[in-house]
Amino acid sequence: MTDRYQQFARSGLGRQLVRRLGLPDPTPLRRHVPGAPALDGPALVGGKGRLTDTVHTVLKAIGAKEVVRDADTADRYAALVFDATDIDDPARLRELYDFFHPLMRKVGTCGRLVVLGTPPSGSGRDAVAQRALEGFTRSVGKELRKGATVQLVHVAPGYEAAAESTLRFVLSAKSAFVDAQVIRIGTHGGEPVTPGDWERPLAGKVALVTGASRGIGASIAEVLARDGAHVVALDIPAQGAELSDVANKVSGAALQLDITAGSAPAQLAQYLRERHGGVDIVVHNAGITRDKSLANMSDAAWDAVLAVNLSSQLAVNDALLAEDLLRRDGRIVGVSSIAGIAGNKGQTNYGTSKAGVIGMVDAFAPVLAERGATINAVAPGFIETRMTAAVPLFIREAGRRMSSLSQGGLPVDVAETIAWYASPASAAVNGNVVRVCGQSLLGA
Ligand code: NAD
Repeated sequence: MTDRYQQFARSGLGRQLVRRLGLPDPTPLRRHVPGAPALDGPALVGGKGRLTDTVHTVLKAIGAKEVVRDADTADRYAALVFDATDIDDPARLRELYDFFHPLMRKVGTCGRLVVLGTPPSGSGRDAVAQRALEGFTRSVGKELRKGATVQLVHVAPGYEAAAESTLRFVLSAKSAFVDAQVIRIGTHGGEPVTPGDWERPLAGKVALVTGASRGIGASIAEVLARDGAHVVALDIPAQGAELSDVANKVSGAALQLDITAGSAPAQLAQYLRERHGGVDIVVHNAGITRDKSLANMSDAAWDAVLAVNLSSQLAVNDALLAEDLLRRDGRIVGVSSIAGIAGNKGQTNYGTSKAGVIGMVDAFAPVLAERGATINAVAPGFIETRMTAAVPLFIREAGRRMSSLSQGGLPVDVAETIAWYASPASAAVNGNVVRVCGQSLLGA
């Protein structure tokens, strides 16, 4: 999908106009290329919290050059990490200012800022201070330029080592379109398994991806296969040809099934039991829109959206859990939407279903934790797909520009976020809903 404005803004004349008129200036985002360095410049770490050792270990493991404050000075930083886990009083929030203020003009293109915190709980001043980190992070996200991002990662005490997969993700180009998010680690338990090979953490795993014949689903299939999984790509029979192309490309299997059919959960369970003895990763990506104002919406449009986007997913989960087919260390991933967070005009059916996906995560996270499994969701914003290419020009342009990164994301951005959830190293990442929206202003 071409973003003509982005191309224009990069041209000679475009650059001048963008600068003079203060127009959005969408920087081409750096995306993951296997084998390329995770960071393209030095990293600086501040703060004295519980996570400092883990941060140093991760930076070393990803081959980052770490500089020491005041000893070396760099012109540009690829990553700034501040460990605020020990901030126990609002008076100490000044430490954030002291660390970041002198560095804000030195953040490199597509730089990564990470604030580490402790999940706020209880009635003490520490909880007040930790909650305050959220406002800092979200505001910094709106000030960063040139494709740089910031995240707040809340790590429960005792889960310091379990933060590794998340730090690797938020520091890398895999999180290109994830911006100003609050990620919680350890809220619902989970013992991470360190992959033998971080390039192929899903080796030996079986992943089911619904709606996999095109768009975001096809990209999820590709990324999970790249990470080593055997992918079962599912879609409706009418998408059969495109589905087998995807399945062939990822050396996986194609499964033609309408997930809303009454017999679908049982058929799916039978397929996974007979072929693979179970499943490790289930990505509920299939989704539809049938937009109309509530006054004009037919009951068929309401029912179809709720059936594909929510009820069928619950039915599949129930069938897999009832037969114990989701293996220990299993992963369920839902695909919500910012419309499920903010609501959207003409999408009462869609917004309801996508908020229901968030409800599914909240309800199932403790249940799956007991089985050593997790459930999380992504909430994409404007992603460049056939679905958004069909949106009228003016609304499409608004959707693209009304975010901190001033552009649409790519299907791969959603897929990389799902791959992070799917990793065996992400066992303590449970019950999260992370927006992949470039900090869209919608529902912010
Ligand atoms: P898409 O329409 O290109 O793909 C959806 C796929 O789901 C299609 O291949 C379709 O055939 C399949 N599907 C529909 N009904 C099905 C059924 N009953 N059984 C099996 N498969 C079925 O859409 P997309 O843009 O790739 O979106 C993928 C997911 O991401 C959806 O859940 C969508 O709601 C969500 N999402 C997309 C965006 C975006 O900007 N594109 C934003 C937010 C959320």
